[in-house]
Amino acid sequence: MTGYALPIKRLIRELGRLPGIGEKTAARLANHILRLSEEDAVRMAESIVDVKRKIRLCRVCFNLAESERCEICLDHSRDRQMICVVEEPDSLIAIEDSGSFRGTYHVLHGVLAPLDGIGPEHLRLKSFWRPTPACRGNPRPC
Ligand SMILES: [Zn+2]
Repeated sequence: MTGYALPIKRLIRELGRLPGIGEKTAARLANHILRLSEEDAVRMAESIVDVKRKIRLCRVCFNLAESERCEICLDHSRDRQMICVVEEPDSLIAIEDSGSFRGTYHVLHGVLAPLDGIGPEHLRLKSFWRPTPACRGNPRPC
């Protein structure tokens, strides 16, 4: 990064922390941002801060949400007997875009990967196993 002014180096370093973005791509993006109007650059920066401040996990399904429950959990027309378990919110979006599923979701925010040290305790599994009346007294989740 020799030759770049310090603020540009910092921007390249930050952009390079994004997944799939190497130093060359980060430099290209930084140069694009440099050419933006100040208004556009501020809007972009504010959208990043906005996401960090306003987005949380739905307390029911762990989808990304702006309030305690996501839009899907608030939708009373959804079939709550069908729960689609997905790895990440991106998977949920892809299924929603297909328009073929009218149930609800449970987002794990990862997958089991014992070789990488990712066990059940690292996923959002506990709240998924809600005992139904038929399950009470049964030591295994059903
Ligand atoms: Zn939800």
